[in-house]
Amino acid sequence: MSIRIKLLATAAVLAAAPALADEVNVYTTRQAFLIEPVMDAFTKETGIAVNLAFVEKGLVERLKSEGDRSPADLVMTVDIANLNQIVEAGVLQPVDSKVLKDSIPANLRSPDDLWFALTTRARVVFASKERVKDGEVTTYEDLASDKWKGRICTRAGVHDYNLALLAAVIAHHGEAAAKEWAAGVKANLARKPEGNDRSQVKAVWAGECDISLTNTYYMGAMLADPEQKAWADSVRIVFPTFENGGTHVNVSGIAMTKAAPNKAAAQKLMEFLVSPEAQAIYAEKNTEYPVLPGAKLSELVENWGSFTPDTIDLTDLAKLRPTALKIMEEVGYDD
Ligand code: FE
Repeated sequence: MSIRIKLLATAAVLAAAPALADEVNVYTTRQAFLIEPVMDAFTKETGIAVNLAFVEKGLVERLKSEGDRSPADLVMTVDIANLNQIVEAGVLQPVDSKVLKDSIPANLRSPDDLWFALTTRARVVFASKERVKDGEVTTYEDLASDKWKGRICTRAGVHDYNLALLAAVIAHHGEAAAKEWAAGVKANLARKPEGNDRSQVKAVWAGECDISLTNTYYMGAMLADPEQKAWADSVRIVFPTFENGGTHVNVSGIAMTKAAPNKAAAQKLMEFLVSPEAQAIYAEKNTEYPVLPGAKLSELVENWGSFTPDTIDLTDLAKLRPTALKIMEEVGYDD
């Protein structure tokens, strides 16, 4: 699907005639197979067409350069760091919606109504079935203890996923303790950080390390990939918690652009995406967790077990990102 650019359709014109809005334009960094099914369900229910533009790189730059003339109504991406970057670019408008507020827990949406999480993913431990005993993995804090020396694999410390986790450590324990923790985990690494989250699971499978830090949905992705299934089968998911909190989660989310030419239809789509039906479809496709309390989990995800998500505000994590980055550099995590 391609975007039909409507240079003349300003938000003001469409606000005067909302009934004419029969399409929504979405810029997304997500893969087609993840979001097309839920968009199709929306179109089927409302008759409103959804035009998807898959923007792999430079999403923020593109929105900024298009400015008021952007054809994009909505932006869908992952990770609080990316959502916050779009907020800071000043290209979003708030969406005042009771449906969104009632459906999404407050810590998973912007306090200014600028972005809304649609799914969550937990950043957890994938533990070797052979070399890690039940109950051996406990808290995030414990990952810095000597018992894990030479047993942990992670991707780069400066990656968004690890920066958000470290930001959560800072939020729970303060900067000094977080620095000690990062240095402790670094000292326990079996090897210099390299590759992505799945590479770490492969390393566990290969016997290089016993546990990896990995996002939950990669279990689903690896099981679906013939080459990677053995990696997935060699580990089990364990949900660590913070000593004074729950399991760290991050999000995929959605936001409305300031330029949105089809504002009413765009809000309709946002509200549809938090309905029980849409939540179940969307979460299942990427083996993520719905944000709507009580929405149906995929059978696979349900089998991983239940956990208590940390309730730290994601906006606070976004604010702590620069401090987390500084700490990763100071402890030489990736050296
Ligand atoms: Fe990912």
